[in-house]
Amino acid sequence: MPTQPSSPDGVDRRCDANTEGTGSAQLSWDEHGLPVSNQFGDFYFSRANGLEETGYVFLQHNQLPQRWQALKPDQAFVIAETGFGTGLNFLTCWQSWNQQPASTARLHFISVERYPLTTAQLTRALALWPQLAELAEQLLQQYPIIANGIHRLRFDHDRISLTLIFDDACHGLKNLNGQHVDAWFLDGFSPEKNPQMWTQALFSEIACSSAADATFSTFTAASSVRRALQSSGFTVERARGFGKKREMLYGLVHNKQATETLPTQQPNGLSTQLWFDRPISSRSDPNIPICVIGAGLAGASTAFALAQRGCKVELFERGSEPGCGASGNPQGVLYAKLPAVPTLHSRTHLSGYLYSLRILQQQLTAGQQWSPCGVLQLALDDKQQAKNDALLSQGHYPNNLVLGVNPQQASQLAGYPLTQGGLFYPGAGWVSPAKLCQQLLEHPNIVCHFNQPVDSIEYQPAQQRWTLLNTQRQQIATATILVVANAHEAKQFPQLAQLPLKPIRGQTTSVAANSIPELKTVLCGNGYIAPANNQRFCFGASFDLHNHDSNISPSDHRHNLELVEQVCPPLASQLEPQLPAAQGRVGFRCAASDYLPIVGAVPDHDEFISAYAPLGKDAKAVIDTPPSHLRGLFVNLGHGSKGLITAPLAGELLADLILGEPLAVEHKLAQALNPARFIIKKLIKGAI
Ligand code: SAM
Repeated sequence: MPTQPSSPDGVDRRCDANTEGTGSAQLSWDEHGLPVSNQFGDFYFSRANGLEETGYVFLQHNQLPQRWQALKPDQAFVIAETGFGTGLNFLTCWQSWNQQPASTARLHFISVERYPLTTAQLTRALALWPQLAELAEQLLQQYPIIANGIHRLRFDHDRISLTLIFDDACHGLKNLNGQHVDAWFLDGFSPEKNPQMWTQALFSEIACSSAADATFSTFTAASSVRRALQSSGFTVERARGFGKKREMLYGLVHNKQATETLPTQQPNGLSTQLWFDRPISSRSDPNIPICVIGAGLAGASTAFALAQRGCKVELFERGSEPGCGASGNPQGVLYAKLPAVPTLHSRTHLSGYLYSLRILQQQLTAGQQWSPCGVLQLALDDKQQAKNDALLSQGHYPNNLVLGVNPQQASQLAGYPLTQGGLFYPGAGWVSPAKLCQQLLEHPNIVCHFNQPVDSIEYQPAQQRWTLLNTQRQQIATATILVVANAHEAKQFPQLAQLPLKPIRGQTTSVAANSIPELKTVLCGNGYIAPANNQRFCFGASFDLHNHDSNISPSDHRHNLELVEQVCPPLASQLEPQLPAAQGRVGFRCAASDYLPIVGAVPDHDEFISAYAPLGKDAKAVIDTPPSHLRGLFVNLGHGSKGLITAPLAGELLADLILGEPLAVEHKLAQALNPARFIIKKLIKGAI
């Protein structure tokens, strides 16, 4: 239960990090079948008529239909809400948006929820609204498992996007810092039942993330809320409340605090580390194509995310088809290996994994191009077993994400006798990465130019555009926005030569399945083997930092077989006779020195060094110089062997950065992926 506010005016100014995790909603259902929260002892919506309440309190008092009519083509309108609950507000909004005259404008709905409903609870709650059934069905199909973090869902070919932040409202909204929300739905249970949420700290967050003319509305007229809103600088009006409620509040948010406070120290105490600030959106004419270099997972995902938002994309690829590089293995494993206690990185891998699953469900045919057959991560030694035990006992992850299995259960899942137990990820599986790239690039807004290597890129300041040149120094294309996503080859461009990228050789092995008994799930240990596809087993993969040979090595085939032997000797002995006729593929994974992807705007190296040099003397120096970027140049690189789970989400993040929209990942993570991090680290270490 929420604790009581600590200050004399009844308003809690704390904004603690979410240390408790989210946990799911505890519900009861009243005699009319309406959901009631056991945690708060309150109803999710008005007992009179929840749908009409949403229309009256939130749509009408934020003047949404009128404001939507004034949107320009391709403009995104951003709504943010405290308390997603049953999603009734979101669905009502979406329905109302659909009733507007057709346009290319997009609706971006962000909602933060501390106690998410499970899919089963949501299904039951939404069944109350047959008029929303069609939209509810789409929401339910994509609704994520309950895992703390940010989840991006897209509907109607991206005309609607939903960013669910499963976290405490105040802490979760920090992720919106510096973004521009147009309208706020202040929901959440009543201030008497949930005083911990209605804090001045929350309203300060809201002020920091609001557009200049942002509005808000709320069902409550509690005087503690009104006073806290007013003292945060909001203009507050009162109106008749819905149903039996006497009054409600609505008005204007002033982001005065954000502008008056020192840019390096926001009112929420979050150091903005100004050098990681997002670039000023440099997109001018939506009809000018954005250029992307590289047709692997990173390039294809970026092109797709931009194309979905209505941008025209021209993509250039040295090879003859999508996925010619490391994204071309016949089968890649799709799962997020989780630590016992979630970290920023693991939350990202998890959000990325869930995002990729949603993309796959929408874009590929299960069976031939990918399969959610599950992944068994076997514990090969006591150390791994101890880690698995810790993960299961800490209870941070729901059973539909990961569960512990003993050797008998593992054997049953695999269809082969196994001597080790481990962790089973039931929704995970394998994917043909090249098929995914190909499908994403089929978007009608994308034009691909294969067999078209880009040898150099040059910026023309007068025209504010990039020129792409071939080996004969002939101009191939020009662009105001250019995304480089060609793995370690990016370093050939002098503008990116400073990025610490390295190629890591990986060889996979493929043998005929012949009459080898069926493997039912992916097995992972130190390597992986997937169920046969197209009558072939694919397994691997070697990992070699020092070998740059692209020829197939028979000894690597043997090594890959040994990796299978470690997890399943009976399967390895079935594969062994096929080894002399094995086929294989060599790919070069591209990894950054810190093994995190590099996603975002490219810093102007020299400007950074001179602007942030004081960090060399004092790592905590407050420097209010905004970052200087190579205008219009972005990268999506360094996905290593995790591209299937990181590249699609990184593509989404990059599209958000380029178009100036709310980000698909946590604020801290966007900073951790920022291409400027290497310069800053070096400056702090005194290495430059
Ligand atoms: N907007 C919802 C809908 O359309 O169904 C109804 C919201 S319900 C009245 C309030 C929601 O706020 C609940 O789902 C509750 O779990 C959530 N909530 C309460 N305190 C919160 C907090 N501190 N942070 C985030 N969510 C919170």
